[in-house]
Amino acid sequence: MNAFDEELTSRLKVVREQGLYRELRRIDSPQGPRIEMDGKSLLNFSSNDYLGLANDPALKEAAAEAVLKFGAGCGASRLICGSLAPHHILEETLAAFKGAEAALSFSSGYAAASGVICALFDSNDVIAVDKLVHASIVDAARLSGAKLRVFGHNNLHDLEKILRWADRRHAAPALSQTDRRPRTLIVTESIFSMDGDQAPLREMVRLKEQFGAWLMVDEAHATGLYGKSRRGLAEECEVDKQIEIQMGTLGKAFGSAGGYICGSRPLIDCLINRARTFIFSTAPVPAAAAAAAAGVRLVESKAGEERRNQLWASVADVSRHIDGQGSAIIPMMIGDEGKAMQITAALLNLGVFIPAVRFPTVARGQARLRLTMTAAHSRADVEKLLASLRSLNLVTKT
Ligand SMILES: *Cc1c(COP(=O)(O)O)cnc(C)c1O
Repeated sequence: MNAFDEELTSRLKVVREQGLYRELRRIDSPQGPRIEMDGKSLLNFSSNDYLGLANDPALKEAAAEAVLKFGAGCGASRLICGSLAPHHILEETLAAFKGAEAALSFSSGYAAASGVICALFDSNDVIAVDKLVHASIVDAARLSGAKLRVFGHNNLHDLEKILRWADRRHAAPALSQTDRRPRTLIVTESIFSMDGDQAPLREMVRLKEQFGAWLMVDEAHATGLYGKSRRGLAEECEVDKQIEIQMGTLGKAFGSAGGYICGSRPLIDCLINRARTFIFSTAPVPAAAAAAAAGVRLVESKAGEERRNQLWASVADVSRHIDGQGSAIIPMMIGDEGKAMQITAALLNLGVFIPAVRFPTVARGQARLRLTMTAAHSRADVEKLLASLRSLNLVTKT
């Protein structure tokens, strides 16, 4: 082994010793309630395909049609010659669905977060994020150079203190040359990805208005699932019109891949002009855009409403036996990383896949099994899940 590989191998050894080693699992089937791994059929409780759309015929047909009509690739970035009809249709469909003036799609939610935050904020600004926000937001805030402040999870007191501090900071004469006002951005998820609980969006809107801050809400785990028109938790809380930056992904409830930002026309025009992850990246393939648009249309339809009802029925069934937050994400707290891995392995032996989530996805010593329900799970699937959990003493309610 050469010196380079030797060094990397010793780094990996440290990761392994901490119980944090990660490996890819090869799946030989489409995404769904049952997946094939190592020649074995497993009940899948790990996916964010909440409405069971990833392998839906409507999305697959839309993707196939887009390939036949527009090809496999786009040839360039959106601003050169890669802005194909499927991208425009997707963005019009998304904006209408979200009730927003405009939308812009990105190659991933991760790229959307980085694109919008770095386009609008720099070292003059303050970004206040919830302690549990997704890594894409933390990375984007760091990359922007803004002063990053972290408030306790859903802790409005803490947030208010930061907003007061930012207010004083912004009132002081600027040290650097700038022709614009320094700004404060608050960022939260609406449904938290690893805990499944909700952010107090109404109160956050009240605070941001009181302090003249802006609010960005990542609805990755809420779009398609909450609100009268399934726009997300902001709609359910009736504050969607007051949120400056609405972010989401096309890879979860919408069943495809990509990310998006929704908001005002000036916001979207700023992104087209300034978002580096949008400008300097080849356009997402036509198939992804077309499948995502079909996913949005399906979510909007009566069938989408039925899927959502199915999902909530399954969540209710499971919640009678396991403590959760009422969302499709049901974390089962274990603590120790190694122990969480052992439980995942024991469940795999029983034919059930629930992944262990460990540091750095969650804090050290807060490893958990992240159980997710989808609309595609049947009553029998839920029964098998509960029986397996019971046999490992993991059922928390009797
Ligand atoms: C998945 C996720 C993202 C990233 O979206 P991708 O499309 O997967 O890149 C961003 N935020 C949250 C909360 C997520 O769960």
